[in-house]
Amino acid sequence: MLEFHKKKPKNPSKTEPEKRIKDFQEIYSQFDRNDSVEQSSRCSQCGIPFCQIHCPLNNNIPDWLRYIAENRLEEAYQISSSTNVFPEVCGRVCPQDRLCEGNCVVEQAGFGAITIGNLEKYLTEIAWEKGWVKKIEINSSSKQKVAIIGSGPAGMAASSYLIQNGYEVDVFEKNDRVGGLMIYGIPNFKLDKSIVERRTEWLKESGVNFHINKEIGKDLSFQDLEKNYDAILVATGVYKARELDIDTSNINNSLPALDFLIESNRVGLGDTPSSNKYLNAKGKHIVVIGGGDTAMDCVRTAIRQKAKEVTCLYRRNKENMPGSAREVLNAEQEGVKFNWLSVPSKLISSNSQASSLSYKVATLGEADESGRRKPVDTGVEKQIKSDLIIQALGFEPENLNSHFNTNLELTSWNTIKVDFKRFQTSNPKVFAAGDIVRGASLVVWAIHDGREVAKSIHQFLKTNQIKKAS
Ligand code: SF4
Ligand code: SF4
Repeated sequence: MLEFHKKKPKNPSKTEPEKRIKDFQEIYSQFDRNDSVEQSSRCSQCGIPFCQIHCPLNNNIPDWLRYIAENRLEEAYQISSSTNVFPEVCGRVCPQDRLCEGNCVVEQAGFGAITIGNLEKYLTEIAWEKGWVKKIEINSSSKQKVAIIGSGPAGMAASSYLIQNGYEVDVFEKNDRVGGLMIYGIPNFKLDKSIVERRTEWLKESGVNFHINKEIGKDLSFQDLEKNYDAILVATGVYKARELDIDTSNINNSLPALDFLIESNRVGLGDTPSSNKYLNAKGKHIVVIGGGDTAMDCVRTAIRQKAKEVTCLYRRNKENMPGSAREVLNAEQEGVKFNWLSVPSKLISSNSQASSLSYKVATLGEADESGRRKPVDTGVEKQIKSDLIIQALGFEPENLNSHFNTNLELTSWNTIKVDFKRFQTSNPKVFAAGDIVRGASLVVWAIHDGREVAKSIHQFLKTNQIKKAS
């Protein structure tokens, strides 16, 4: 260990931009044995590991890095998977530059971060290859039943911990595949669908019952769940697109980001392409509005669909983008243009079809309540040709109470109000976790919430059982 001053940081190779834009395959290769030993041995085994503190799952990173360096891979995997139920997903999609790696002391000291994400991915892929990822062992048995609404990362993670504690677990998914945004939102070049499907199979083999095409409030009532289950977890995520300040309701070629990404992912999974020609970027001038990871997923998808030109419009500058710097760099390498400090002002359209978008050029003013400097109009206005405008401005919760015919207490942002220690809602047998509680966030936070809410449901059901017996 402590080799950071002798060995340079290294990530696995990345497919060259000219090659990788020809398909949707993952762009990063994987460490081999030698590289994994070399890279993990750079860790200085900090007494206070800032990598761990800034990992939402509080993964015991120094310990599993040491085991990788000592070639004790099975033990390393046991430690890594004890806090993270989907480490191969996090290794691929976490913005490590803002979390574990960005806070690594070796990075802070100027030697370059320990490449934690890629080591986590390497370790877990080896674990699958060697058969160390075993069916979940059930600790005890219970006759109690838990219903989970939503099969995204929070619902999937919670199901694994609940099944382990012996509960019967039914997961209801309104779509035709399990995985939520991991299947329909994140593109293949970041997270291949087979990775998610492999975990779905693992959960099924371990005893989780998935019910696809079952929308609560439509195919099955929430009240039926209340009658038939001992606890309910709402893990629906947030899907409603945040809207632009300008009216685009009558414009056919202006779409929410998720419509575009879902179509691309569906086609990649072998579904018949939609007849809506605006759901494909081929041959078009594409303008994506937004600066987060969803915007980066859209621009990079449009490039792979052979768009004529792809431009990202963002109202602040590059340093203030909310998305991962790694993803912005990947997009730049793939040929995406960025118009920083650009605030959309109006659409130039006729017959419900926009031909270009006007935007105001901004400069940065005082910091707002988020601590980031606000864009201020400079009085200069420009136009950009746009055959398709994709809005990636973030997501908001849908009105779940009206959909479920329930009366759960909500926050002023319309997310479900919970006691954050227990993830319990205003209805004691109903729990909520993931984006529907915290607002649109990272996959790793959803996995965290799934883990924590499962503990809380277990506690609640155990106590209830004791009460019933007495
Ligand atoms: Fe880093 Fe994410 Fe893995 Fe935590 S889960 S160690 S933040 S890659
Ligand atoms: Fe190792 Fe960096 Fe974590 Fe310290 S902060 S334990 S050097 S990975």
